[in-house]
Order: sequence, then structure tokens, then C-alpha cells
Amino acid sequence: MSESLPGTSVTETVPSPASDEIPDEVTDAIRTLIRWTGDDPTREGLVDTPRRVAKAWREYCQGYQDEPAAHLARVFEEVGGYDEIVLLKDIPFQSHCEHHMAPIIGRAHIAYLPKDHVVGISKLARVLHGFARRLQVQERLTAEVADCIWKHLKPQGVAVVIDATHACMTARGVCTPGVTMRTSRMMGAFRDDERSRLEVMKLMGLV
Ligand SMILES: [Zn+2]
Repeated sequence: MSESLPGTSVTETVPSPASDEIPDEVTDAIRTLIRWTGDDPTREGLVDTPRRVAKAWREYCQGYQDEPAAHLARVFEEVGGYDEIVLLKDIPFQSHCEHHMAPIIGRAHIAYLPKDHVVGISKLARVLHGFARRLQVQERLTAEVADCIWKHLKPQGVAVVIDATHACMTARGVCTPGVTMRTSRMMGAFRDDERSRLEVMKLMGLV
């Protein structure tokens, strides 16, 4: 991505966040940020902060170590002919916006209309977290979750609705706490058939 730019070779030498080691370049960068904001990174309360921040960011962004589609690999075909909507509602998640690296805190509703098989219900949440624990925009997060389920589970329909608050809007900039953003992606039967769409929206408690 940036390998041709001078001074950016750091991206090639920094060990993967998957390893336990936290490179000095990372903690140095955080110390620089603290200093730049006006505080003293050597004072007692801040001395271990760079390491803690680095570990926190490794956790916030562990989706980069994840392959969300892999969670959909194991399916169950013995469902007694069940062919109605499967919905996982109000899944809490957190992500970070790619423009400010500020928290996005929200809830997702994920539904699909099975064809022949289902997945373990926790897997839908795992797919969400796999994409959420990266630097994101809510629109893309919504699309990635829906597309992943559509492509790998091959159901008759997928519906993903996400409500989230963005700290880059609530805590800075226009500073409007309480505002939530809603995004949705409807695929297959939920897009083409109005009755199916209405049914899933009702189950999600949105109409
Ligand atoms: Zn932002």
C-alpha cells in the first residue's frame, strides 16, 4: 500500500498484531501522540499507557486476524424442514471508524431465510465481530456482513440492519450525543418480496 513512500518501511518491519510482542515503534508513536496533545508521557500515570493502548488496539482490530466466512463453514441440514426466518436480534458490537479511529457502538439484527441448511446461531455474531473489529464505516460493515452470509451460506434471503452511534459525531465535531445511524442491506427474498421484507422488519421490531 505505502511501501513506495519514504519513511514508511515501518509497516514491513512491525510484527503482526497476532504476536504477543508490542514493537517499540508502536509505543513510541503513542508517546508522540500524548506529547503532541500537550501531556507528558513520562509522568507516572502515563508511563504504561502506550503499552496499554497498543494492547487495546490489538483487541479492537483483531478482526484483521479473523476470516469471517470461516464461521459459516459448518452447517446443519437436519432442521425438520424449517424454512422460516432465522433472526439474531440486538447483537451488541463495537467497531472504530476509519476516518477518526473513534468508537462506533451499536446493535445489529441479522436474519436469513434458510435454504436446506442453517448455521449455529452464534456464528452470525462471529461474522459481525469479524468485520466490526477493524477500521470501518458503518455502510461497509453492513454490506460486508450481508454479503458474507449471502455468499457462503447461500440462503434465500439475508437482512442486516445496524443501528450505531459514532463517537466521531457524538464526542467531537458537531457533538450530537444520542444520534444513531441506521443502515440496512436486504438481499434475495427480503429485497424482492415485499411481504418477506415486512415480516423480517416486524421480527426485528423495526415496524
Ligand atoms: Zn469518524
